[in-house]
Amino acid sequence: MDKIRIRPEVFFGLISPIGVDLDLVQSELSEGLRRVSFTPKLIKLTDFLREHPEWFDLRFETEFQRYEKFIQAGNRFCRVSKRRDALAVTGIAQIYRDQEDRPNVIAAGAAYIFRQLKRVEEVKTLREVYGSNILFIGCYSPKRSRVRNLVSILLKSERGTDANELEAQALKIIGIDENQKDEKDGQRFLDAYPHADFIIDCTDPTTIRSSVSRFIECFFGHPFVSPTRDEHGMYLAQTASLRSSDLSRQVGAAIFGANREIVSLGCNEVPAYGGGTYWLDHRPDARDFQLGYDSNARIRADMIRDLLGRLREGWLSEDYAAKSPEELATEALRDDEEQGPLARAMIADVIEYGRMVHAEMNAITDAARFGRATKDGTLFCTTMPCHMCTKLVVAAGIKEVQYLQPYYKSLVRELYEDSVAIDESLPNRVRFRPFVGVTPNGFRKVFEKARRKNNQDVADRWNPTDAFPIFTTGYPSYLNTESNVLSGLDELNDRMQQEAGKG
Ligand SMILES: [Zn+2]
Repeated sequence: MDKIRIRPEVFFGLISPIGVDLDLVQSELSEGLRRVSFTPKLIKLTDFLREHPEWFDLRFETEFQRYEKFIQAGNRFCRVSKRRDALAVTGIAQIYRDQEDRPNVIAAGAAYIFRQLKRVEEVKTLREVYGSNILFIGCYSPKRSRVRNLVSILLKSERGTDANELEAQALKIIGIDENQKDEKDGQRFLDAYPHADFIIDCTDPTTIRSSVSRFIECFFGHPFVSPTRDEHGMYLAQTASLRSSDLSRQVGAAIFGANREIVSLGCNEVPAYGGGTYWLDHRPDARDFQLGYDSNARIRADMIRDLLGRLREGWLSEDYAAKSPEELATEALRDDEEQGPLARAMIADVIEYGRMVHAEMNAITDAARFGRATKDGTLFCTTMPCHMCTKLVVAAGIKEVQYLQPYYKSLVRELYEDSVAIDESLPNRVRFRPFVGVTPNGFRKVFEKARRKNNQDVADRWNPTDAFPIFTTGYPSYLNTESNVLSGLDELNDRMQQEAGKG
């Protein structure tokens, strides 16, 4: 007997930089969802800002100003409400507001699309509320396509402006959007990116269409979707990362040979005598957590103390010269309400003094240790390689690097322009490209399958009209959590009200 299945509610969060053709992504996704009998409903997170002109000044004359105003308003909302997930909370409120029967009833077959997420806290809150019923979709598009898209939008209000000037404006908006490093409540979509279950290739309309179509097949139960070589490679890199006991974060790498055979895996871990890195049964075990501190942070602090101590002799004002190097360094590196002058300084970014080998180094040295060729291979890594790993990648003859989390402020572009091409394919350069497709987060959900034939041994077929999502739970418990989050909304409103009263 066939089980009667009620279509659940499904939720999608779009994680995207500015400049991606999100209108097309949204319309293709909506179309795809209708094909599998779901009703798309758009939740636009900026609506809340628009609905409150008393709190947010969104008046603009040019498109450039429009982008600026919205980014500023979003940051202000997070700062005043003291919640970096504030916009996601307003999105959850929209779902409530539009439905009379909430919080008791789910809207069967509804597919909510949150457009768009910029902060990792937004992703986490949505995940906490909707659990397995939400998927996150990253939107990747190379910078040159995003600039071109943005220029065509800016042209709407600034026809007659010099093309170079428009391109400069576009680059400025993209720069602000990518990483507001110095802005405490600024958006950092790059941090949100690794949470995606799938990354859509938004390079052009054709890639958007084919990516979205595969996304639907993958997550709405096509029995015979199978991983691309790239998806398989990234999954192995991610798996390798889980062995790391690093104090900051786990990074993984996987090298495949010229014919896509697996060569080696690596993670960021402290090297052990005799080759490779520490495993849990090494004696003595000298991993960082056993030593109890991060050597990079320690040496960086020593450098800053040493520097400030030397400056005391005639280079600092009397007040500061009277302080000890320890006091000066602590004050300079403060990163709370009152930010010290060196908290976000370049010197705070040094990474050279960590004891661990990085995941990419680990994979390359393991290949050397076992005599396996890296020439013309592909390296998959969970984060874009740093400048130190990049020189080994180039020297090892690796042809292509794919990474899950891009890092646009990396020094690679500046230092290795002669041997590396980021985001584009150039002759005689190692190609660095962001990964697209089913991410390691989505991998097991999508590709783990049971029996795929009927009792007559005939292979299953996929029928979009009665397709069913593979990621949802049958007994969703988010109606309660949803209303809990909403009680926080009153508090957000109060804080905005108070702030407005002050001004
Ligand atoms: Zn590295």
